[in-house]
Amino acid sequence: MEFTFLGTSSGTPTKRRNVSGLALHAKMSKHWYMIDCGEATQHQLLSTKYSVSNLKAIFITHIHGDHCYGLPGILASASMAGREAPLTIVAPQGVIDMIKAVRETTQLWLDYELIYIAVELQTQPLCFDDFTVEPVELSHRVPCFGYNFVESNVEQRLDQQKLKACGIKRGPHWGLLQRGKDVITGEGQTLLANDFLQTPRPPRAIFVAGDNDTPSLLNTASVKPDVVIHEATYTEDIAQKVGKGPQHSYARIVAEYAQDAGIKHLILTHFSARYGYDINQSPSILDIENEAKKHYKGNSFLANDFDSFELNKKGVLFLNSSH
Ligand SMILES: [Zn+2]
Repeated sequence: MEFTFLGTSSGTPTKRRNVSGLALHAKMSKHWYMIDCGEATQHQLLSTKYSVSNLKAIFITHIHGDHCYGLPGILASASMAGREAPLTIVAPQGVIDMIKAVRETTQLWLDYELIYIAVELQTQPLCFDDFTVEPVELSHRVPCFGYNFVESNVEQRLDQQKLKACGIKRGPHWGLLQRGKDVITGEGQTLLANDFLQTPRPPRAIFVAGDNDTPSLLNTASVKPDVVIHEATYTEDIAQKVGKGPQHSYARIVAEYAQDAGIKHLILTHFSARYGYDINQSPSILDIENEAKKHYKGNSFLANDFDSFELNKKGVLFLNSSH
């Protein structure tokens, strides 16, 4: 599965970073999923392979504008591009109310159905073709959620040793069982496919967090993620100057959470615009990286716009491409 950052800046865009947005693709079908949709996310999409016609669902973490002001534009463009398939929006109720109000007041008529799912009302994980998605409530100034995307379709393998031990010879029965079909043998014996199929690996999981000042809340997810994508808006020194008001994270507390939780891959994003690229100036983005690496010994990255990552079936994460 792969994912591409569409925006990595907090609050306001910069010349090199747009506000929050992420495209997630399980690569099992043409469908992909969007998490957060800050202003101009649809412009960012134009520089990727993703199209609004294959977008299956949009997940919004919270109502702050840098995470959802891109919604009306992208919904309108999808309709103008001829979309007819329903589109699901999973979001806090306030975001749903905003979309409904914009549609009403700007006469935004869509040629497809919007399916609204208010995330705070969900008590069970949400099932999609490619993912089972577990929302986790986070700690921010407004209701805010992270989403743990657990892959749905792990390939299954025939347990050949068990088949042989049961005296079932290689042949058409094996093929049927492999395809998940139960079989009745010539001797009248019923073979249940589930008894002979095994999954060779656990499902992969990617946790995409929203804004959050308490990273350890991610530990409440029922499946441990292979990859955590979390905001690190500040370094610790700046966070202390800013004070607790914004309720954001800084590199050290995210790194410590990931280290303690044994997370294999950590990607930081949503950086304050004050962190520039020039490492000779202070503060710079290198300060965030250094602080994170000091407290986290796993595989860590600082996201850039259009960075595309691949998580392979062995659970290894690598940067596929960047602009
Ligand atoms: Zn934000």
